[in-house]
Amino acid sequence: MDFSRVELSDDDQAFLDEVRAFLDTHVTDEVRRRDRETGDNFDEGVHLAMGAAGWLAAELNSEEEGGLNRLRRRIWDLERRRVRIPWVTWGTTSIVVNSVRKHGSTELQREVLPRLERGEVRLCLGYTEPEGGSDVAMAKTRAVRDGDQWVINGSKMFTTGAHNCQYVFLITNTDPEAPKHKSLTMFLVPLDTPGIEIQGIRTVDGDRTNIVYYSDVRIDDKYRLGDVNGGWAVLMGPLNEEHGVVGAADDGLQDVSILIHQGTMMATSVDNVVSIAAKPGPDGRRLLDDTSVGYRLGRSIAKVEAALSAPHMFGRVALAQTMRDISPDLMDILGPASVLPIETEGAADNGGMEYVYRWAPLCGIYGGTLEVFRNMIAQHVLGLGRPNYSHPAKPKAKAS
Ligand SMILES: Cc1cc2nc3c(=O)[nH]c(=O)nc-3n(C[C@H](O)[C@H](O)[C@H](O)COP(=O)(O)OP(=O)(O)OC[C@H]3O[C@@H](n4cnc5c(N)ncnc54)[C@H](O)[C@@H]3O)c2cc1C
Repeated sequence: MDFSRVELSDDDQAFLDEVRAFLDTHVTDEVRRRDRETGDNFDEGVHLAMGAAGWLAAELNSEEEGGLNRLRRRIWDLERRRVRIPWVTWGTTSIVVNSVRKHGSTELQREVLPRLERGEVRLCLGYTEPEGGSDVAMAKTRAVRDGDQWVINGSKMFTTGAHNCQYVFLITNTDPEAPKHKSLTMFLVPLDTPGIEIQGIRTVDGDRTNIVYYSDVRIDDKYRLGDVNGGWAVLMGPLNEEHGVVGAADDGLQDVSILIHQGTMMATSVDNVVSIAAKPGPDGRRLLDDTSVGYRLGRSIAKVEAALSAPHMFGRVALAQTMRDISPDLMDILGPASVLPIETEGAADNGGMEYVYRWAPLCGIYGGTLEVFRNMIAQHVLGLGRPNYSHPAKPKAKAS
């Protein structure tokens, strides 16, 4: 991994200035306030502006196809994060694009891709079901063929962004008798099809997600991605990307792991706690003068640094676990005013650490739980074999 600073050429500096000007114009305090209120993690005005200015196409296409080169892609990523752009719906959309390009019919690609680059079309992920999400291959939502059409029945839990999207990348079961990995078929289902009902759910950190019901939803075969019962192959690319199992390139121009966005928000909140702890109070004393405060702050900072540096799957586990570990400790250091949320009068650090505390459990659930990733690391990286959840064998009765 190359940690050296990148010197920008005049052209790249001009590009950085252009990105900043664009983002500062469109990602305003009002956009961020509205986003906190709705929990949507999406702003249609900003998204359409990015589409109209060509930023979405530049991001989706490779340098050879006329998109951003690696350095400019990195600048674009970091600057969006710096201004806290509402980002989740673009994240789910870009995870699915390659599957549409690779497995979608020409007709479907023509319908979706140009509008997607203009920002008019967004895609969400319909994997998890009310009965369970860790093993996505267990999907029970049924798709049954009827001539040139399919009829879909079932329900999906936590379809984040569905209310701001036009299509859902849906896992369906098309052969309940087959082994689970050979029973799935993927579709890109238009969300305005009759029979689809979207209901909002607010999570403990204020984010909005959805439960989506599918009742006799009838779609044309052109919305199928890949082969019938061959859905697992279509799903692999997007799943690997969301899980963060694809290693970062070693040129230093990519996040070392997924969840770095969450990690940098946590690091910023830790910096704010340090500033408060280093400031003398009315009696001239600083929180930091208490050695236990110094010890707990130091331990938290060391954990954050280690988590921010851990690559791929290790990083996502380390970051989500660190958010859970340090936020109660740092709120404790700040005292009772730390429980007041953002923009509440008297909040110790404007609610920064309180937000990390409420966000932490979710970061260890979406895209796969901490337990599941720990098992994947144990099994696939450390070679410890499959976990065994069977009941421990009873000790043998002693012979008399
Ligand atoms: C805010 C938020 C947004 C989300 N957005 C989306 C989305 O856009 N689209 C989507 O499809 N899903 C989404 N999800 C769902 C998410 O992917 C699932 O919640 C997650 O995969 C876990 O599935 P589950 O909640 O059904 O838990 P379950 O799979 O029922 O698991 C329950 C418990 O059992 C444990 N467990 C399960 N299997 C194992 C195992 N093999 N080894 C060890 N422990 C295990 C889990 O760790 C967990 O503690 C979102 C979730 C949240 C909270």
